[in-house]
Formats: sequence, C-alpha cells, structure tokens
Amino acid sequence: MDRLVAMVKEEMGVDSCSLYLADYKYKQFVLTATDGLERSAVGKVKIGFNEGLIGLVGDREEPLIIDDAFAHPNFKHYPEVKEEKYKAFIGTPIIFQRKVLGVISLQQSKKRQFNLDDEAFLVTLAAQLALYITNAEISGKLLITDESKEATSRKLNGIPGSPGLALGIGYAVNFQNDLRTLITKKSDDPNKQITIYRKAVDLTRQHVGELSAGLSASLPDDVKAIFQLYNQLLDANSLGREVEKKIHEGWDAASSLKFVVEAYANRFESMDDPYMRERAVDIIDLSNRILANILGDVDNTQPMHSSEKYILVAKEVSAPMLAEFPREQLAGIISLKGSNNSHAAILARAMNVPAVMGLEGVSVGLLKSQTLFVDGYSGDVALNFDQFQEHEFIRLIQQEQALFARIDSESDAPPITQDGTKISLLVNAGLSADLELEQFSQGDGVGLYRTEIPFMLRQRFPSEREQCDIYKQVLTAHPDKEITMRTLDVGGDKPLSYFPISEENPFLGWRGVRLTLDHPDIFLMQIRAMLRASLGHTNLHILLPMIASVNEVDESKTLIDQAFSEVLEEANEKKVTLARPKLGVMLEVPSALFQLPQIAKRVDFFSVGTNDLTQYLLAVDRNNPRVASLYSSYHPSVINALLGIVTTANEHGVPVTVCGELAGEPLGALLLIMMGYRKLSMNGHSLRKISWVIRNTSMTECEAILSSILSSESPAQVRQILENYLETKGLGGLVRVGV
Ligand code: PEP
Ligand code: MG
Repeated sequence: MDRLVAMVKEEMGVDSCSLYLADYKYKQFVLTATDGLERSAVGKVKIGFNEGLIGLVGDREEPLIIDDAFAHPNFKHYPEVKEEKYKAFIGTPIIFQRKVLGVISLQQSKKRQFNLDDEAFLVTLAAQLALYITNAEISGKLLITDESKEATSRKLNGIPGSPGLALGIGYAVNFQNDLRTLITKKSDDPNKQITIYRKAVDLTRQHVGELSAGLSASLPDDVKAIFQLYNQLLDANSLGREVEKKIHEGWDAASSLKFVVEAYANRFESMDDPYMRERAVDIIDLSNRILANILGDVDNTQPMHSSEKYILVAKEVSAPMLAEFPREQLAGIISLKGSNNSHAAILARAMNVPAVMGLEGVSVGLLKSQTLFVDGYSGDVALNFDQFQEHEFIRLIQQEQALFARIDSESDAPPITQDGTKISLLVNAGLSADLELEQFSQGDGVGLYRTEIPFMLRQRFPSEREQCDIYKQVLTAHPDKEITMRTLDVGGDKPLSYFPISEENPFLGWRGVRLTLDHPDIFLMQIRAMLRASLGHTNLHILLPMIASVNEVDESKTLIDQAFSEVLEEANEKKVTLARPKLGVMLEVPSALFQLPQIAKRVDFFSVGTNDLTQYLLAVDRNNPRVASLYSSYHPSVINALLGIVTTANEHGVPVTVCGELAGEPLGALLLIMMGYRKLSMNGHSLRKISWVIRNTSMTECEAILSSILSSESPAQVRQILENYLETKGLGGLVRVGV
C-alpha cells in the first residue's frame, strides 16, 4: 500500500495520496498509507464514519471533488496529519460487493479543479484495489488495527462440500517436501536413481492400498474407486516411463519426478473444465507421496492430542489425506482449493464429515492450530471467535445432534401430515442408490438417479455391460419401488474428464439431452443398458434432462423405441419380460414451462429440477459465489413458475415430482406441499428431516398461508412467512441450526 500511494502520487502529479481503510468494529476510517501527509500518523489517525471529508466520501459512496477543502462545511482538522498546506481534494470510496472498504484521496497544495479524467482514473483504481483489500483481509494478511486483530472474529466464505457443523482445531496437512519447491539436481548413476524411484513407487502403492482397504466397509464401491485412479497413475506405463526417461537424461529421481509431474499438473490446471482442474490435485498429492518415499522423509507433523477433535486443513485436501486421518479425531475438513466435485468432497459426504471447499485466498497458516467452526451447510468457516461465540457454536452443534437424534428415533413413521395427507418421499442417488435408500425404509423409491456420477468417477465411458450391471443393482435391490434413472446429464458443471467440452458459456451450451441426442451412440447404449437391467422388473422410469422443446422429447422417444425393440427381441429369446418404462422429462429449462400441455401429452411424468430452473429463470449462475446472494428458489418468480407447473400437471393428470435441492430443505418442502406437490425427491441425508417436518405440519394450515406467500415480493419475505410457520409448530430449531 505504501508503494501504491507513492506511485499514484507520482502518476497523478499531486502532492499527496492517502489510503484510509474502514474499521467496522469501531466505525472509523484508519489512515493506512500515505505519501504526502505525515507518515507518523499512519495507523493513528482514525476518522469516524460520519466525520470529515473522508467520512463524507464513505457515506455518499461516490467520488467527491473539492477545490478548497478548508472551506468545505464538512472539513475537520486533524493536526497529526499536517495537511494545512493542501487545498484541492478528491476522494473516492473503495467498494466491494456493496460494502465500503475504505477511501483513497489525493490532495494538492494549489487550488486545483480535479477533472473527470482524474475521477475516472481514481474510480478504476479503487475498483481494482477493492479486490486486493478483500483478499488480503480474508487471508489475514491485512489487519487494519491491532484492536481489530484481537477483537474481530472472522467469517470466511467457501463452498459447501459436505453437510454438518463441526468445531475443532485446525490441523494442517502439508508435505514436508513439496515437489513444487524442490531444487532439481543432476545424477550420474541412472541405474541407482531408477531403483530408488521404483522402490518409492512400490512403497507408495502399498500405502495407498492400505489406505483404501482401511476405509469403512460401508462406503460405496464407487467412492473406493477413487483410489483405483491412484493405482492407475502409479502404473509404470504412464508416469513411470516418463520419469525414467528423465533419469536417463541425467537427472536424479526426485528432479525427474518433478519435471514430469509439473508438466502434467500444469496441463490439468490450465484446463477450463473444473472437474479436470481438480484432477491436478490427485497427481500432485500422489507425487508428493512418492517424493516423501524417495527422500525418506521423517514424520514431523503437528502433534495431535487424543482428547481433541480436529479440522483437517490443506491447500488441496486429497482423498488419501482423508483416509489416513484418524477417523475418531476428524471433526471436519477445509480445503482451500477445490469444489463440490473434488474427490475429497465426495468422500467427505460418504463418510458424513462436514466439509467446506474453495476458501480461495486464505493461507493454511491462518487456520493452523486455531479453533475453527465449520458450517458445511452454508460453506462458512469462523475463526478468532470469543468464548461467547464458541458457546453459541457448541450449542448449535448440540441442537443439531439432538435434532437428528429425535428425527432418527422416529424415522419409521410414515410421512403423513397431521391432517392425514401422505407425501411421497424419494431419494436422489448417484453413488449408490442402494445404500442411500436402505437408510430410509419409508422412501418410496429413487426419484432421481444421476447416472452421470458413475460416468464421472471413471476414466472412460462405461461399457453397455458395465452400465447394465450398475443399473441392475439398483433396480433389483428395490423391485417394488419406482427407480427413476435420468439419462446422462453432462456438460455445464458436470464434465467428463475423457470427453472434454470447452465452451464460453457451458450452462447454455452442449449439455444434457442436447449432447446425447447429438450422440445417439451414447444415448442408445445407455437406454439399452437400462432396459437390459430392467428385464424381469417393472420399476424402471426413464427421465430426460434439460428438455427445452417438444421435438427433443419426440427425438428421444424415437431412440428409446429403437432400443426397446432391440432389447425386446433379446427378452423374447430368453423368455423374460420387458416392461415398457415410464418416460418423464425434467422441467428445468424455462421454455419447457410454456409448452407444458404439449409435453404433457407425450410423457408419463414430470420432474422439476429447481436447481437449474432457478438458475435459468433468474439468470444467475448456480455456482458463482459473486452472485450467490441473488440465487434463491424462494424468489417469487420461481414460486409462480412452480405453481404453474403443478397446476398444469394436475389438469393433465401427469404425476409431478420435485427433485431439486429445494425439496430437501425444510422451508422448501413446506412451500412445495402447500402449492400441491405430493412427491419430493432429495438427498439421502434430508429424507428423515423432511419426513419429520411433514409429520409435524398440517396441510390445512399450510394452505392457509399460501396466499400470503403468493403476494410476497421478495425471497426474504417468503422465507420469513415459512420460518414463522415452522416456529409455531415447534420446528424452529431446524432453521436456527441451518440444516
Ligand atoms: C436440478 O437441476 O434441479 C437437478 C435436480 O439436476 P442437477 O442438479 O443434477 O442439474
Ligand atoms: Mg439440472
């Protein structure tokens, strides 16, 4: 900041440039850097939010140009800064996401009229500066005053990776030696280096094998398959061959590994596709493990006390890091990089450990050895909190546990409202529908089987037979329950590593049924696999994602008919029955809502994807944190759309399910049932909770508040009405805990 003010002063040809940062705790601007005012005043001069010209700029949230500052009614004299010589003034607020972070000001001793070019320059600079200040504040590199350092509890905002609340001490997992910082060395004994390398790989393979075997047997096979990827990478044919080539060029084993891995990782990291970028994490983690074995690293990790709970913190948490952490001491996970797609997040969800991903700009050092509160529902992490706040967090965790204990104890009761309306609850599945459904005996089936997940966890398209085996497991495990399998919905935020798609605007691009209709080979293979898997059963339902027009339904039906007649021949030969599956479409693209009667004639059921429907109706990217506050399925426009769907569906006698996240939220489920929805499909962990909400509410009361919801003008108003109702039913704890 010192350099910045000096550079601005010179560039603008002024006598002084100063930067004041806002300290919200004490409602003041603190002089943080200056070139032109008295330097000893830095950190000492504090100007109240409503004081002086700086306060006025902050308050008006716009630039202010004054020829003669002394003559201005708001001018307040601060003798410490020695500004008596300056007359002309221009100040601009530094704003980030509507919050004033500070003020930057220029001063000149001569009377001078700063012009609009000066103003434009300063505004541009302030906008850039806002980003840096925010990052520096988040990462703990910038503390405005010493008092604020002690007093300010911090809330960092990441991406929810796995639901749940956790309190624990930050436990940093770092490799002692990191390939990225390794200094390369030559060697003149290639044979010795090759032996060292191969031995290190063997040790690593053995270790990864032990980690994978040590994972709880209850984890789905697909999660364990993450470790197969590690084994493939360890395969001498890929990584090994290139490393040994480098060794023959005269480098030692560690350096050769560094060259090869960095080239791989850079290639992955520079990819547009977020899933592919995540794969760089696996490669780097694995290579650091090999490196540790090459160098024979000694273990000098942070000590662990058996009585404490820890939050595993790493720049990039990898699946093996999770697997090797003592489970009984693992309270939560924070990965500074990564997203919902990361293997660490997938594993954390399967292990039931709260996780927050993607805390960009924060350093591991800031979180290490600190008491941290992790909120896996919202993606927030709190630190630096006082005892009072800590008690509040402990209370929230206890409330969450008590709530789940209560919900679990009644989980056998059917989801029927107090006045007798039965709501059908189904599960959204992907990793292992089997497991997810088994946990909830009251579930009526699988409302959404996301077939893309098994596709995403592999290194190539699964064959028809492989697909058939996966689908069969699900269909045969619950022959009496409906199983809705959605055809491949990749593209958008769900990429396949082996089928990269690079697009400027992937959410409006080649995704869902658009892609599979362009690739009838992939589509037919999948439908045939589903039909074969359903031989002898009657529970298969097929669901088409991203339908935007009637012709997409017709074209899909033609292909499904073709696959059906092919499998029927086989069924007749084998003398087994092949039932015609029910066909449905996802309602998630707004255009489909305006052709509902036409679509209704062509299909057997609808399934509303509120995640995408909200994103497309509000034109808000569902994964962009900058606009996250604008993304709400409680927006009155979304509610109107949802009401329109259920009304038209009922008029045409087409059953309708909601399978977006909204259905798994207590407020959302309430909202949906009061509008007339009777089938909700959600993540496994929400089922019992929603069943409990349903059992404790009355349909008549719900319907009575619908009109006030429909006349609401904002998502906040809608939520408030729903929250009030839950509170009157004694279910307020659900909202307070944030589940
Ligand atoms: C949706 O869009 O609401 C949905 C259920 O599908 P996905 O989240 O898989 O896009
Ligand atoms: Mg969708």
